[in-house]
Amino acid sequence: MRSVIDIVDLSVEEINGLLKTASDIIKNPKKYSKKCKGKKIATLFFEPSTRTRLSFESAMLELGGSVIGFSSASSSSASKGESVSDTAKVISKYADIIAMRHPKEGAPLVAALNGDIPVINAGDGGHCHPTQTLADLLTIKREKGGFDNLTVGFCGDLKYGRTVHSIIGALSRYNNVKIVLISPNELKIPSYVKEDVLDKFNMDYIETDSLEDSLPSLDVLYMTRVQEERFTDRNEYERLKDSYVLNKEKLNKAKEDTIVLHPLPRVNEISIDVDDDKRACYFKQVENGKIMRMALILMLLDIAKKDKSKFTLNDNKIVYNKFKCSNPVCISQTEQELKGMAKPVDNGNYRCVYCDKDF
Ligand SMILES: [Zn+2]
Repeated sequence: MRSVIDIVDLSVEEINGLLKTASDIIKNPKKYSKKCKGKKIATLFFEPSTRTRLSFESAMLELGGSVIGFSSASSSSASKGESVSDTAKVISKYADIIAMRHPKEGAPLVAALNGDIPVINAGDGGHCHPTQTLADLLTIKREKGGFDNLTVGFCGDLKYGRTVHSIIGALSRYNNVKIVLISPNELKIPSYVKEDVLDKFNMDYIETDSLEDSLPSLDVLYMTRVQEERFTDRNEYERLKDSYVLNKEKLNKAKEDTIVLHPLPRVNEISIDVDDDKRACYFKQVENGKIMRMALILMLLDIAKKDKSKFTLNDNKIVYNKFKCSNPVCISQTEQELKGMAKPVDNGNYRCVYCDKDF
């Protein structure tokens, strides 16, 4: 059985397969309307994220299946102190697949390792959100025809923005993708993303703080929110806050066929006068997210039908119980009975398997 915790759990062939299923769903929605008849998805949302939960639920309903679940920790047994692994074992008796959102990094992995049904990570703290990345990929594919030879700009908070790290990782598997990283100095992309992805896959990339100078070269512009609380220097925030707002006037510097993406919700980083421009694709991303979730649910249920064996990590490099992760938002910190799991990385450090933090 398979689960999807991180986008890297999917091979490039599997991602291409999901994109193919998605185009078929778009062409023939009727063909899919009963594919999951009799199947249930459990949406286990330990923190509220109405948008993502409704996307998973609509995806299952459009496949003819049904939905059970909860929308916040206070309406689940977590408020009584039930562990993630017990929750997963119990829910495995009711449902066929789980979509889990949890504030602790690594919680969906714990569910996948302990339950008997496939788990999709619907966002675990600041760690991974693979179905957002799938939505982004389908949007780029539909609007630009593919991924090879594109120049993709990321603008805003590149330090904390997990969606950005994840999509850069996914794009690293295609040919000749050029990355333009546009951010204030304080919110530059972390060095581990450079080492583990950009340098490792020899990606062509530049770093700049100017959105306006970068715009003419971009095929795709991916905007994210710059949050005031991320700045240590208030003057720096005041100086920069408007330079990362995309408006109609700035968009005029972009090519006619540039597309603008944003994982939503936006605050003010894209002004509403951009919404009716044909290059604005962020609401299309929402629809594409639902379609990719449909494709992923189908893929995982299909695998589970043929292979009922329990999900395992199957990695002989993992060492157990040797290290204790110190990341305060790691699930292994909250649920003390979990065994420590770490993997050696290139520079001699070890990396927590739950949350990917190095120590
Ligand atoms: Zn950890």
